[in-house]
Amino acid sequence: MKIARIVCTLLTYPLPAPLHPSWAPGRTFTSTSCTLVEITSDDGITGVGAMPQTGHVGLYTIADMVAPYILGRDVHAVERISPILRSAARDGSYPWAVEMALWDILGQASGMPVYQLWGGFQRTLPVYASLAEIVSAGEQIDRLHLLNERGFRAFKLRLRRPTIAEDIAFVEKIRAEFGDSVDLMVDANQAHVMPSPGPHNFWNYTDALTVAQAMHDLGVLWLEEPLPRYNYEQLAQLTAATDIPIAGGELNIGLNEYRDLILRNCYDIIQADAAFSEGIFQLRKVAAMAEMCYKRFIPHTWSNGVGLGANLHLAMSLPNCPWFEFPIDPPAWTDEARDFMLTTPYDVDADGTITVPNAPGLGIELDRERIRQYTVAVWESGER
Ligand SMILES: [Mg+2]
Repeated sequence: MKIARIVCTLLTYPLPAPLHPSWAPGRTFTSTSCTLVEITSDDGITGVGAMPQTGHVGLYTIADMVAPYILGRDVHAVERISPILRSAARDGSYPWAVEMALWDILGQASGMPVYQLWGGFQRTLPVYASLAEIVSAGEQIDRLHLLNERGFRAFKLRLRRPTIAEDIAFVEKIRAEFGDSVDLMVDANQAHVMPSPGPHNFWNYTDALTVAQAMHDLGVLWLEEPLPRYNYEQLAQLTAATDIPIAGGELNIGLNEYRDLILRNCYDIIQADAAFSEGIFQLRKVAAMAEMCYKRFIPHTWSNGVGLGANLHLAMSLPNCPWFEFPIDPPAWTDEARDFMLTTPYDVDADGTITVPNAPGLGIELDRERIRQYTVAVWESGER
């Protein structure tokens, strides 16, 4: 079974309200975009993956740096294609969607969902609603009540106010409102910001330690990205010094970086993402190393519906993944905004869990009409 055709489609969807994510201080998003990667085998099976928001760079990465070297290759030989993706990631941007599409084909060809091909540890996981915006405690409480009524029982709050005292007071108010009826996680987003006007003030070690101890006292389940991405020494120092689990790694890239994060004990919870970090099967190696070091692996999923769906199969295949991240923050980041390219948005079940589709492959159904409507640019390979 050979790779016969590749189609990349850049999509842009208008958000229902302006989005101000904590990871882009001072910036307002009015739309979201992604690049769909569809690969068809010579026996006519089409697999799908999606790149995060990289605009035309994503399209050119596949067209110029990946497609010429993988067309005509055996779909089964994913390990032989991974080095090509790594080279493209060096010169271009996030080519990992190719690996999602190949595993989607392999699952369909074998009649099995991908998570089962990889050992099928679980079919259902508790989700946490992963919020985006820094809002007042009152506004946050209103939003959480609405999500709670939909079935969400766990929430990841954003910390990035002008002072850590304001961040701590904010979480205290949320805990006071909900008591122990919900689980809370917090994400400080100190490892990275997207291009944005700022302010770009980052925590130092003392800030991170102070917040970690306060969050532990508030019963928060983990503190995410408390320090800059490559400050391995102080991340390890913080993880050793605190009782609250420290999480991170969503935008590290490549197996070597994860080896270092794990072996140097930078984090208790590794959060690589099949859209941003490495190929989806390659991340199983990272998860296995985390497992051998008694760490959890809970994938980051904040990109788009296809990326969420791919990470869902990864999560369900792993013995050391106890939660699933569900990006949602209405009114701007709705299920429709995240999953506009899908026939049916992913949803939380009434008991606060998510169930992986049992269809062969990744089980992703694209909405062709909406894709036509929101297409900005297309690149297609010739037939091979
Ligand atoms: Mg994060």
